[in-house]
Amino acid sequence: MLDKKSLKQNKGFKIQLKKRLLKSFCKDNVGEYGRIRQLSKDNRGNYSIIISAILIISFLILSIALLNSSLEENESNKDAISSNQIQYIMEDYKRNLPIIEREALEELSEYVITNRRASLDSRNDLKKIIDNKLSEKNEEYYENYNIQIQSSIVGIENTSDPFSYKFKSYISSVKGDFSYEEIAESNVNCYNLKDPVPVLFCGDDWSFRINDSDANRQSVFYGKSLSRFLEKHNVENYSFYENASSPFIIKRCPYDPYKHHGDDNGKIMKNCRENNYYHESADGACYLCRLEGKCGCEHYGFETFINPQDTNETGRVSACGADHVIFSDDIYPGVEVIYSSADGMNEILYLDPHGHKVKYGMSGF
Ligand SMILES: [Zn+2]
Ligand SMILES: [Zn+2]
Repeated sequence: MLDKKSLKQNKGFKIQLKKRLLKSFCKDNVGEYGRIRQLSKDNRGNYSIIISAILIISFLILSIALLNSSLEENESNKDAISSNQIQYIMEDYKRNLPIIEREALEELSEYVITNRRASLDSRNDLKKIIDNKLSEKNEEYYENYNIQIQSSIVGIENTSDPFSYKFKSYISSVKGDFSYEEIAESNVNCYNLKDPVPVLFCGDDWSFRINDSDANRQSVFYGKSLSRFLEKHNVENYSFYENASSPFIIKRCPYDPYKHHGDDNGKIMKNCRENNYYHESADGACYLCRLEGKCGCEHYGFETFINPQDTNETGRVSACGADHVIFSDDIYPGVEVIYSSADGMNEILYLDPHGHKVKYGMSGF
């Protein structure tokens, strides 16, 4: 049996036990809470490390991208400068082409006339002369600009203007990583060049000469050469071309349309003949074919007239005086056309009545 005292003690003991348990529970709980706080504190540290790392990596990636693009831009600027440079050099180079081509035309013409030897293939001869000059020019450009240029003529064509020729050249060049390629075209005219035709047909005769008081007004004086040539070709009245003369330097007649040559009582024709002009003609040879000793060709060409010496006789007939007729294998006759008279002497041409007389407006003469 428990007495009151022991019951009291027991009760006290239980209370103490409860208090102790409560204390220890509280203590434990406080520890747990702290751990949770500690844990979340640790996690926060981890998060900031991760975020910082992400930020740093992003920054690095961004920097690399920026650096790359600025390098690329730099490179493409460099490329643009280099390609502009090559473009500029080649534009400069191309300015030489028509000059070289014209020089070549003049050189071939001088060669043909001096040696009285027709070119067998004027286009091919021109190509050879020009290609040589181009390779010299290319060396010059290599020395000056360190650029490798290759160029050569790929075509020489007639144009709708019979005094002008289209020269086509293939150009390619390399400078560093850059290359350039083009078919360049230039128009070259034959103005002020010498006409090879009279020299090639009559130049071997001792009486043939070039009157050269002034280089730009040079003309051909045939002496007996042309009449002998016509005699050989069984032309009647060949002697009417003794001491004839004709133009030598290629100049285009400004009196266009040509039918106006008869205007002003023949004064236009007189002026045309005194100035030694040439006229467009489908029958006359182009300059490139003249260099080959042809007076007519399949190209659209030009013609001039042979002026017989002044005469006091009228109504005569001889070979038609257009150069492509007189030097052809098919010489046809022309009637005397008096375009100027003074002191009983007439300046004349022999022209076919239905062809050249009409073309030049001389039908009434
Ligand atoms: Zn004329
Ligand atoms: Zn021709």
